[in-house]
Amino acid sequence: NVTIPEFIFKDFLKYPHKIAVECNVTGKKFTFEEILVKSRNLNSALRKKLKLTPGDIVAILLPNIPEYAICVLGSLLANLTVTTINPIYTPDEISRQLKDTEAKAIFTLTALAPLASASTKLANQSVPIITIKMQNTDSIPEGTHDLFQLVNTKLDIEDLPPCDTNDVAMLPYSSGTTGLPKGVQLTHRNIIANICQTNTSQLRLSSETSDQNQDVIPAILPFFHIFGMTGILFVHLHNLCKLVTLPKFSPEQFLHLFINHKPQVLIVVPSIVSLMANQPMVKKEYLQQIRVVFSGSAPLGIQDEEKLKSKVGNKTQIKQGYGLTETSPAVFMSSNRSINLGIRGTVGEIVPNTDIKLIKIDGSQQEINSPRELGEIFVKGPQVMKGYYKREEATKEVFDDGFFKTGDVAYYDENGMFFISERIKELIKVKGFQVAPAELEEILRNHPDLLEAGVIGVPHKQYGEVPRAYVVPKPNHKVDTDGVQRYVAEKVAKYKQLKGGIEIVDSIPKNTSGKILRNQLKKEYQKATK
Ligand code: ATP
Repeated sequence: NVTIPEFIFKDFLKYPHKIAVECNVTGKKFTFEEILVKSRNLNSALRKKLKLTPGDIVAILLPNIPEYAICVLGSLLANLTVTTINPIYTPDEISRQLKDTEAKAIFTLTALAPLASASTKLANQSVPIITIKMQNTDSIPEGTHDLFQLVNTKLDIEDLPPCDTNDVAMLPYSSGTTGLPKGVQLTHRNIIANICQTNTSQLRLSSETSDQNQDVIPAILPFFHIFGMTGILFVHLHNLCKLVTLPKFSPEQFLHLFINHKPQVLIVVPSIVSLMANQPMVKKEYLQQIRVVFSGSAPLGIQDEEKLKSKVGNKTQIKQGYGLTETSPAVFMSSNRSINLGIRGTVGEIVPNTDIKLIKIDGSQQEINSPRELGEIFVKGPQVMKGYYKREEATKEVFDDGFFKTGDVAYYDENGMFFISERIKELIKVKGFQVAPAELEEILRNHPDLLEAGVIGVPHKQYGEVPRAYVVPKPNHKVDTDGVQRYVAEKVAKYKQLKGGIEIVDSIPKNTSGKILRNQLKKEYQKATK
């Protein structure tokens, strides 16, 4: 029954001088003691200087830099709620989130101050902007507050008692893959439960940091998304690991991180696994100290998994997890048992203290009681959100008798391992049969001439809907679409064949979590067939 900062800071002073976070690009770093002291100082400045009061919402518009930790933890110490924003959003997108949350302050980079102020103008909100220099040579824009001044000293203001652990700590917005983004209210209790559920033995972290020993974790996934926030920032600070932040992903920066920092545990999305598996510049010798590669957020291709496995060797475990913003995020994680059983393509077992029901998707609402039957995942557990922010109706719609309805379809096998099929909304309905685009995409990705694929349903007079594929050829490979049709036809039932056609494209639209943006493909199709 503690708040996030109390939980994270618990052991910080055991190793005050060890590095907690370092930037892969600038080399800027903070020790555990510095994070603790600067967060406390920020807490006092936010309340005394900026006059923020408990319950106010503050926005963080930042890439992954070491100061992110101070902004989040300092704000939470001041009993504020933190809403995180993708720094590549447009002023329009940012202003929507600012308006919805009525944020009372924004943390951003000096270089992004014009974006922040354009967004506040659009939202018609005049709020203090706190800026951070990425490089020491950057200058603080006029009219903004310098984070470094705010965290340098503790202002004279009475300490606050810790807030209620059922108060909302984090307010991330769902990424909007399938609808307009909604604010997801995650309490201190939700997040701490999920940190505890993300069992450190599954991640194979060293049991304890010591003077000689400290695991290094790359912070590649964005902190503005809950996977990066809980799964990287919170879990690993709590375990006294060293985080190395990557403000902007590039294969060169990624390699630099491997060569210079030699990380032991990787928390990634499937597109990064694919890069590691397929790019010759990611050499075997860079990967030898890795104990676990943990992928989540989107389906991990079995071929990429196998290829990476052959590069890293048997001592490295490749694991998968499944979760959502609404569940803080982890719901399923590959376990040591699934690894020992050698099962591929599974997202593993249910995390502790969590109830799962699979409910038939034929409208009967019946619960599934046997393996290999597809049903919608319903989740109940301490990690499930309080509700959507200011959206009572939308909240009611996603809860059923205390269970959160995920909208994702899955099945389990005889060993109790779960496999994700598809989102209900994305299922293609062919003559009353359901076709999962993810299954066809996996088959297409395994075709020798193809690098990537995206599949959508398109209208069909006779069948209602049929699958249509967008494919990206491998460099210097020619693609014969009739051959690809035959390749797929050999592997799937007739109703799953690509009757909507195959189109060769240069790239597949994806979001930062590596999810295929099928809505965008659908829009392009509608435009082309108008
Ligand atoms: P929005 O709700 O606005 O559409 P979003 O669903 O992309 O945004 P997230 O919370 O980032 O928001 O994503 C959760 C979704 O990611 C899950 O519902 C599921 O569809 C997908 N997902 C997560 N992990 C996996 C996995 N291992 N395999 C397949 N899909 C996954």
